[in-house]
Amino acid sequence: MAKNFHQPTRMCVACRKHETQSKMLRLTCKDGNLRSFEGVGRSFYLCTTCLEDEKKISKVLMRQCRNNQREQHMNNLKEIITDDR
Ligand SMILES: [Zn+2]
Repeated sequence: MAKNFHQPTRMCVACRKHETQSKMLRLTCKDGNLRSFEGVGRSFYLCTTCLEDEKKISKVLMRQCRNNQREQHMNNLKEIITDDR
């Protein structure tokens, strides 16, 4: 069986699946606000499949940001996704 060329994978914090980094969105929480990761501090990844599951990721985001600003996180996430495209 031919091996695929090696690509580093990252784990999605919502479903815990491993995917290549290009299929993941890298995020961070700064002062309780969800942001796209800018190279400093702690970060986490969400896969594109989970990004479509608001219920699932809102829980994850509240856990990652250690607060319960569900709506704020979802709004920030939408902005981040829009900025990325
Ligand atoms: Zn996922």
